[in-house]
Amino acid sequence: MRLVLATHNAGKAPEIAALLDGNYEIVTAGELNLPEPAETESTFAGNAMLKARHAAALSGLVALADDSGLSVAALDGAPGIFSARWAGPQKDFAAAIAKVEQRLEDSRSEDRSAWFTSALAVAWPGDDGAPGPCVVVEGRVDGDLVFPPRGDRGFGYDPIFIPRGRDLTYGEMERADKEADSHRTRAFARLKAALID
Ligand code: IMP
Repeated sequence: MRLVLATHNAGKAPEIAALLDGNYEIVTAGELNLPEPAETESTFAGNAMLKARHAAALSGLVALADDSGLSVAALDGAPGIFSARWAGPQKDFAAAIAKVEQRLEDSRSEDRSAWFTSALAVAWPGDDGAPGPCVVVEGRVDGDLVFPPRGDRGFGYDPIFIPRGRDLTYGEMERADKEADSHRTRAFARLKAALID
């Protein structure tokens, strides 16, 4: 089955492709030149559904979208759905990480706990312009932040995040080690269960 992956994020595409176990022929929204919709919802789940519905409607294919991000407890859950936007149009994650560190210093909190969330939505193209069905699930991994950043693997905020019970940041781990139990992996397990159910 052909599936459109509604992401323009080069870091996420291979992780999601690996999670699909080669069961689908994947084409990305970027490859189809689909425009990126504005992420106007206020939750990860809302934005994942918005992106999946948009890609399904424009491509006529079943679409899978992910909306994800880092939430920091001492920052009341920021950057959260704004995780990508904190890196600016240049996608400068060194700057986004420096902003997290600065905000934590300003907060005077000692709490370094944080979590990654991944919302996954699957949308089917509808008939006659009406939207088709859509399923959405979430996965979460809790951990702690470290500064300065460690490791050059992964993407985004990986170099400052240590999942609870581990010693290495996501930026230091082998990709397979991260994928064994990441927020996206957990969301995928739920998605498989939801689709089979
Ligand atoms: P989205 O494309 O709007 O979902 O942007 C999510 C942003 O959250 C990404 O650009 C990353 O900055 C961050 N993010 C999500 N998942 C991860 C991850 O597994 N590691 C590091 N950063 C992540």
